[in-house]
Amino acid sequence: HFDLLLYLYMTMATAIVFSALGYFIGRREQMITELALTDALTALYNKRYFKNRLEQEFERHKRHGTAMSIVQIDLDHFKHVNDTWGHQAGDEVLRHVASVIMANCRKNEIAARTGGEEMSIIACDCAEAEATHLAERLRTGIEESSSFWQGQELKVTASFGVASANQNTDNAWKVCQLADDALYQAKKTGRNKVSVHGS
Ligand code: GH3
Ligand code: MG
Ligand code: MG
Repeated sequence: HFDLLLYLYMTMATAIVFSALGYFIGRREQMITELALTDALTALYNKRYFKNRLEQEFERHKRHGTAMSIVQIDLDHFKHVNDTWGHQAGDEVLRHVASVIMANCRKNEIAARTGGEEMSIIACDCAEAEATHLAERLRTGIEESSSFWQGQELKVTASFGVASANQNTDNAWKVCQLADDALYQAKKTGRNKVSVHGS
């Protein structure tokens, strides 16, 4: 009788110890995975994840003819923010802009920080018109909101370039390049605006 109790006790204890161990190892794994996929400052996806998804989405576009668009984002006169309020204030602005982007993106829109103050969105299953709407929604969202740094209200705007995959874009980077060209146009023609490639 005593041995049976001891046996049961040991079995239970072993089960508990191993489930706890499994739980903590699982949590660590999850943390490491998250660290590798997202950007520490903004919590947007990082460049590496962006590159992988970009290739995948482009493959899907080629195989199944699904639409795919890219939105490139660059903050306007961001150097001025840093120079006036300091780099930490600049970081706070980046966090704020990222939160506006995340709040306005759907599940099929992959938002990543692809450079210092550059962000990119893969709009999966989105043709040009829908991606342009998204960019316009983000533009007004950023324009109409504020960041706060040490009680000071900071306002920024951003410029957007939109391009979509088509018969002439033979690889994923070409689409990004076209969106970059459009972004350059937005900058050149006044900033705080959305430019669409080829229009
Ligand atoms: P433009 O409207 O032409 O884009 O002007 P800009 O001043 O934004 O010019 P540009 O895009 O070339 O400048 C990027 C600046 O962003 C330079 C750099 O100091 C700042 N920056 C880049 N990464 C970070 C960051 O992680 N934190 C902060 N605070 N600033 C950053
Ligand atoms: Mg820039
Ligand atoms: Mg900039």
